[in-house]
Amino acid sequence: MQTFDHTPSSGSLFLVVAPSGAGKSSLVNALLQQQPAIKLSISYTTRQPRPGEENGREYFFTDVEDFLTRRDAGEFLEWAEVFGNYYGTSRIQIADQMAAGTDVLLEIDWQGAQQIKKQFPHAVGIFILPPSIDVLEERLKKRGQDEPHVITRRLLAAGGEIAHASEFEYVIINQEFTVALSELSAIVKATRCRFAQQSTRNASLFAQLGIHANLS
Ligand code: GDP
Ligand code: ADP
Ligand code: 5GP
Repeated sequence: MQTFDHTPSSGSLFLVVAPSGAGKSSLVNALLQQQPAIKLSISYTTRQPRPGEENGREYFFTDVEDFLTRRDAGEFLEWAEVFGNYYGTSRIQIADQMAAGTDVLLEIDWQGAQQIKKQFPHAVGIFILPPSIDVLEERLKKRGQDEPHVITRRLLAAGGEIAHASEFEYVIINQEFTVALSELSAIVKATRCRFAQQSTRNASLFAQLGIHANLS
């Protein structure tokens, strides 16, 4: 399969996955406040907007017919059915950002993460765990944005999602929010210090210092 992350201008690609209610969106939003240079991929979804969600901000909200038309036209880098709705990542959005050397973060489910990893083997996978299933239930209820039957469905699916945690490079346990946020931020910073990223970002310094990539 063709892979894309050896292009010199490529930024880092972060995949953040968690069972619903673990705190993925809260952590990602707080990270983006600290590090606005990271671009969040805005997915397409067929689910209904929650109160306060805006088209083009959390998601591009669409209907099944439009989603399937886009899918069949190859517009999605990955797509999956999650909790009875379709979700997909826009290929062009990601391609444009990666080409510009921007770090991109995808908040997607484990099925999507597997598809992305096949295409971008150096994508950095981060799995967010709740401190317990009871706390997960409490957070989903407290968030108060989903109908009770939707919450039940999401809780029932949590075990299946968590079973994929071992496929990720990093795991964060979101007990204390500030601790979890500092761990997420540390992962992002460490990734930026990878040889490939540093040598691309600082190409002239590396040339001056006579540092060459080890291509073996
Ligand atoms: P929450 O993030 O669990 O509060 O709920 P959402 O309704 O926003 O997301 C539902 C599920 O769909 C989560 O597992 C998301 O990570 C996943 N998801 C969101 N966008 C995408 C996407 O573009 N592709 C894939 N594969 N999954 C997505
Ligand atoms: P996800 O995007 O994974 O579905 P959210 O970010 O929407 O999860 O978080 C679910 C709920 O839990 C929200 O109401 C959020 O404010 C709350 N929450 C997130 N992290 C913590 C934490 N460490 N401690 C307490 N509540 C949290
Ligand atoms: P929610 O409906 O709560 O916003 O999201 C439910 C789940 O769908 C979450 O696990 C979220 O990460 C996932 N999800 C959101 N967008 C995408 C996407 O574009 N692709 C995939 N595969 N999953 C997504």
